[in-house]
Amino acid sequence: MFVKPLWLLVDSLTLNVNKYYSFLMKSQDWSREELEEYQLTKLRELSNNFGLGIDSFEDLKSRPLTSKQDIPLQYTPRIRNYITHETSGSTGEPRRIYVPSEHWPRKEAVFMRCWSWLGWRGQPVLRLIAGKPSWPWYDRWRNVKILNYREVTPEHVNYVIQKRPFLIHGRGGGVRGTCEGVIKAGRADVLKDVGLVWLGESSEGHRQRLEPYVRGFYEGYGLAELAPVASPCEYNNMHINMECGVIESVDGEIVITDINNTAMPFIRYRTGDDGKIRDSDCPCGRQHPILYDVRGRRTDYYDGPEVKKPIHWWLVSPISHDYIDLVKAWRAEVFPKEGRIVIHFVFRDKEDFARLEPYRRWVEEQTGLRCEFQKQDSATKWKRDLVRVIT
Ligand SMILES: [Zn+2]
Repeated sequence: MFVKPLWLLVDSLTLNVNKYYSFLMKSQDWSREELEEYQLTKLRELSNNFGLGIDSFEDLKSRPLTSKQDIPLQYTPRIRNYITHETSGSTGEPRRIYVPSEHWPRKEAVFMRCWSWLGWRGQPVLRLIAGKPSWPWYDRWRNVKILNYREVTPEHVNYVIQKRPFLIHGRGGGVRGTCEGVIKAGRADVLKDVGLVWLGESSEGHRQRLEPYVRGFYEGYGLAELAPVASPCEYNNMHINMECGVIESVDGEIVITDINNTAMPFIRYRTGDDGKIRDSDCPCGRQHPILYDVRGRRTDYYDGPEVKKPIHWWLVSPISHDYIDLVKAWRAEVFPKEGRIVIHFVFRDKEDFARLEPYRRWVEEQTGLRCEFQKQDSATKWKRDLVRVIT
């Protein structure tokens, strides 16, 4: 087959996914000491770059914790080749951040390694993402179908029915919606060949619903703007990708130092999600520590006669993209039986409902429900449920 060498050649001239992938396929067999040595080297580079004065893990751990509030609203990246990222907003507090342009290929390589752990040898994979595919030719070559997670279309459903992908990988709401579409089409039988890699939100409630249908339900953890934090192995343990970051559990909260972000420092960055870490005792033999008991933000899923299309994460995702400078935090409550949605906002500086009006109309058009806005003064009482459906 000539495609593979050609793919590798083009890749080496452009994205370099394979460079990262080859490295990760080696480092997956490293000992804990070797992994830590690698992290230290990267940390020192980062420290030189940003003048952080970090020479050891002790130095790192003496640094203060940082959070979304510490990300400046205006920032000039330190390198020339970077991409801008609006944070997924999964904490309900949107921010704009910068990552090096190799962020995307590196992330893909981490995902591909995870898929290989789960038995992937080039079978079709359905990957659900927020935007458009960055490199469609590349995805075609590696047999990965990219679709948007926000709206499950007949294309999603037909792809799964026809191709029976080895994995559906992506944000929980989209994974749930796609599977529900297949079940609704009367083809739940195909799901027994399909594994799920659930990301971006808590699987609470969703796992119980989908697990009986699918070949496997795997869960990873990461933030869209930072490299994947932990990836599931064939034993369904979430191994921390030590090649991407130093991950700590501080008072039960997951804290990340991204060792590859040379555009903007993310040092001891609080995720707002809870999780615990233990040394690897996994039968797979990999020495990367295991992240467990993760309690992240969650969104409900609702499909019923009252709504034009199933409600999940997509409902609130435009907030973090379009109103980043206006809105500090948000939470949505859906009352389908009453035909209404209430979205609570904490404004950054001043209240401006007029600017949010197009969003309100969009919500009404998309859902068929009446949308009301409410102002809140603080986000502190807002719990993990970002989209709550009250039936
Ligand atoms: Zn394992």
